[in-house]
Amino acid sequence: MRQFEAAADHLALKRGIREYLAAPNRELVVHFPVAMDDGTIRLFTGYRVHHSTVLGPTKGGIRYSPEVRLNEVRALAMWMTWKSALMHLPFGGAKGGVACDPRQLSRDELQRLTRRYASEVSPLMGPKSDIPAPDVGTNAQVMAWIMDTYSMHRGYSVSSVVTGKPIVIGGSVGRSDATGRGIMIITREAARLRSIPFAGSRVAIQGFGNVGEAAARLLHEQGCKIVAVSDIDGGVYNPDGLDPRAVLQHLRTARTLTGYPGAQPVSPAKLLELPCDVLIPAAIEGQITGENAGRIQAGIVVEGANGPTTPEADAILADRGIPVVPDILANAGGVTVSYFEWVQDLQSYFWTEQEINAHLERLMVSTFARVAALAQERRMTLRTAALIVAVQRVADALMTRGIYP
Ligand code: NAD
Repeated sequence: MRQFEAAADHLALKRGIREYLAAPNRELVVHFPVAMDDGTIRLFTGYRVHHSTVLGPTKGGIRYSPEVRLNEVRALAMWMTWKSALMHLPFGGAKGGVACDPRQLSRDELQRLTRRYASEVSPLMGPKSDIPAPDVGTNAQVMAWIMDTYSMHRGYSVSSVVTGKPIVIGGSVGRSDATGRGIMIITREAARLRSIPFAGSRVAIQGFGNVGEAAARLLHEQGCKIVAVSDIDGGVYNPDGLDPRAVLQHLRTARTLTGYPGAQPVSPAKLLELPCDVLIPAAIEGQITGENAGRIQAGIVVEGANGPTTPEADAILADRGIPVVPDILANAGGVTVSYFEWVQDLQSYFWTEQEINAHLERLMVSTFARVAALAQERRMTLRTAALIVAVQRVADALMTRGIYP
């Protein structure tokens, strides 16, 4: 909300329009039972929030985490509205989640929870109304169960109801790496802007999941030195650089990052303060705060996660001359290729990976250039510039459509 208010202050929005854009359009809270493997029945709480439907059907991920709450889902849904608008995608913003720890559930329990949650939120979901995608704690398999549940209720297959699905059921090539690829492109562009040589630049990444792992691997392929990575349990640091593929292999076999040969242990919090050229928080929100922003040593922060930097930290980093490439720009590769996936599903006509990556590259580069130019011209942060472009676009569409009735 504070980020939105800061951007809205720069725009001549009518009061009622500003209030409308600040509020979620629809919110659904569901409490539902799941049969556990041991024969007990557990109650879970889930959410689906549509922040805005002005630009089109809503789009946004589904999160499985013990911390999921309505307010978190609301904030994430609002960010999705601005992200889609910034990228010129014909989507509004949504987000969903279930308060649960997926690591404590068996595969069968996870499947039953997912199918029941999908049934519960099905009044809000549909290929023309609201299209979920993966987020923290969910993956392509979870999307496959949601697609199947929705299709069973309809009586025919509806692949376009979710994105980030496995390719065999209508997923898109390039989607699983898309957020990480977008981050790689944006890091390259931001490094150029700051005159930091991209090849050889030292990169520290918090979060080694869908986003962090792909970003690490693709940046490494471009010649960047990945000095540190971490997951929720801990991380590893080597100032001479890590091989992300070998780290992933170690994580798969050892089920932990710690113990990776030739690296020192580092906590997810301490990783943020390591000396590096580029810091990529790619785990969860609220990691760079008023408390630790003064100790960040990076030349640039590229937000892989949604909302990793608090407004207090933003102000401190701006004072210290450390640019922050905001989430709605830096991690927009995911929703952009989700858009390509949805278009392909609706047309039942599939593109090559080269086509996907070329379209993504073009959109990310042109949007970064637009935001960077506005930030420079108006002497504002990249975040405020990105939000101004996005909020203005939604407000223009809203005023053009008119206030119903
Ligand atoms: P994921 O579940 O695949 O990975 C999350 C990573 O963060 C894991 O390594 C996990 O161990 C770590 N983590 C989780 N909680 C943590 C905590 N409390 N402290 C430290 N580390 C923690 O999730 P993801 O899909 O990679 O998403 C990561 C971030 O990127 C989220 O903010 C998400 O909203 C955002 N995002 C994801 C996508 C996408 O396509 N998946 C797109 C845009 C933005």
